[in-house]
Amino acid sequence: MAITRETFPLPDVSNPFLAPFFDGAAKGELLITRCRLCDVLVWYPEESCPTCSNDLEWVQVSGRATLFSWAVVRRPFLPAFEDMVPFVTALVALDEDPHVRLCSFIVDVDPEPLSIDSPVEVVFRPLQFATVPGQFVIVPMFKPAEM
Ligand SMILES: [Zn+2]
Repeated sequence: MAITRETFPLPDVSNPFLAPFFDGAAKGELLITRCRLCDVLVWYPEESCPTCSNDLEWVQVSGRATLFSWAVVRRPFLPAFEDMVPFVTALVALDEDPHVRLCSFIVDVDPEPLSIDSPVEVVFRPLQFATVPGQFVIVPMFKPAEM
């Protein structure tokens, strides 16, 4: 499939499934969808609750999580990432429900001492690429939690 969005690899903030997520991030809030009936957090957002088919609503979560898995990216696979390497991409498991894992970046850390299950906390940073000049999207990233 050809990539036709001029802003790629910036996320598509106009996607109706994810627009509230990016609106929240721009305000410093980490928002996740939750079932109105059975209270389970649902991520990625879906049309309805996969358990009970009820409606989902966006709720703010604490931003505290643990490191589930990560990779240190040292070679840019796209020109857009040349200025970013090395960087750490990760799955973080939310404290509210460790089954909910967000794909994000780990920032403000040397990659070598990272360890599984270590506590992290959300920070909101601009995601920007030299190939998309003048544009950025505020996204949740994670850093080691303050002890
Ligand atoms: Zn439900």
